[in-house]
Amino acid sequence: MAFRDGDGWVMCSCGHRHWGLHGAAGLLLVRRDLDEPRVLLQLRAAWTHGGGTWALPGGALDSHEDSVSAAAREAEEEAGISASHITVKDIFSDDHGPWRYDTVIAHTTSDAGAHAANAESEDLRWVLIEEISQFQLHKGLEAAWPELRLRVLATLTA
Ligand SMILES: [Zn+2]
Repeated sequence: MAFRDGDGWVMCSCGHRHWGLHGAAGLLLVRRDLDEPRVLLQLRAAWTHGGGTWALPGGALDSHEDSVSAAAREAEEEAGISASHITVKDIFSDDHGPWRYDTVIAHTTSDAGAHAANAESEDLRWVLIEEISQFQLHKGLEAAWPELRLRVLATLTA
């Protein structure tokens, strides 16, 4: 395992602290082999930051990593996602100045191997796009979701 040099908190101009000295990234994976597109949500284990809420697999960037690599690595560690089964379609940046969260929007035509793969994942679920707002979301995802939703829909019609 590579040395992780991105672990740590950033005090942000928005007044919150964020995880990831070099920013953070997550994978928004859209499954397209079902009747309707579904998005993979992860229930964060109670002991994690934002524990007990639904979020995207993801985490801090290492200094040498780009957002796509970090999102794919975290999705594999936490949710067993195989990078060979996903196709990146778009990246949505939530830029806070000193800190940034990049949501990597990708498609898959299988379950991509998804299963709760480490202790940070309590559960994983493939959720209809229009049902996501009914879940108790991690506050970062909740804030970004209205805009993210439009970006996801755009990847489906492109
Ligand atoms: Zn901020």
